[in-house]
Amino acid sequence: MTDRYAVFGNPIGHSKSPRIHALFAKQTGQDISYEAILAPTDGFAAALHAFAAAKGGPAKGANVTVPFKEEAFRLATRRTARAEAAGAVNTLSFEAGAIIGDNTDGAGLVRDLKNNLGCDPAGRRILLLGAGGAARGVILPLLLENPAELVVANRTEETAARLALEFARLPGCALSVKPDGIGFAGLTGRAFDLVINATSAGLSGAVLPLPTSVFAPRCVAYEMVYGRATPFMDQAQAAGARVADGLGMLVEQAAEAFFVWRGVRPRTARVLAVLREQA
Ligand code: NDP
Repeated sequence: MTDRYAVFGNPIGHSKSPRIHALFAKQTGQDISYEAILAPTDGFAAALHAFAAAKGGPAKGANVTVPFKEEAFRLATRRTARAEAAGAVNTLSFEAGAIIGDNTDGAGLVRDLKNNLGCDPAGRRILLLGAGGAARGVILPLLLENPAELVVANRTEETAARLALEFARLPGCALSVKPDGIGFAGLTGRAFDLVINATSAGLSGAVLPLPTSVFAPRCVAYEMVYGRATPFMDQAQAAGARVADGLGMLVEQAAEAFFVWRGVRPRTARVLAVLREQA
């Protein structure tokens, strides 16, 4: 019997996840199916349970995207440490009556940076823009790479400060760096080796009020949005930074989920190249 997986979101029509997982399954010889399911905004739990109960093969897991990651966190009966730290779940595994919640976004970003872009976060001064779910999901994995510093800057300064404080206090996290949380105005005169845009500003074409000084010489500027050039990418390029979009993170978080589910780590380079060709 074919093991069944799905991604839930609203909207979901644009999702590349079914294609990515089909390529992973073919490459690794795993017998799985993977579909995209549009859940009503007030009907995620019902849609998930209907999927789990449907015939046609055992339901083994699901990915979860906007706007259901926090609800998936609450629905999970057990959670991994990285899901707890993120406060959001993007990967669910169904195991013997339990629903295990995980978050692979941060691991995906770190793998994209290190393996695909040759940008090791270790020792770097990192600026993380945004304090929403995406930013929250990547802070712990980034801190575990031992950057020189991690500054979280957000339009709403209080949210950045609250988030930074929460991670600085993380028990059992023996980190030499403490994250700092500020508003965009606090960035004046500061420089970073890696600037990650985890805001959704690029989706609406909004310009972030960033001083050009944030892009240090040989800086890498990482935009989590993919499939379009954003004002952040334009600004970073004009400032001389090396610019990357979030397609690699998307593929790597999917590979991490595939590994969690199947115990096999797919190779990502060819899959990423195929998606770029089709973009
Ligand atoms: P949230 O809605 O949780 O957070 C949005 C964040 O963006 C907040 O920090 C908000 O600031 C900020 N923001 C929104 N508009 C503006 C603006 N005009 N100017 C400045 N700041 C702004 O979204 P997520 O954290 O879930 O997602 C953020 C982005 O990351 C999305 O675009 C998403 O597509 C992308 N993403 C990409 C992934 C990938 O695999 N490549 C994975 C996950 C997310 P404030 O607090 O002030 O409102």
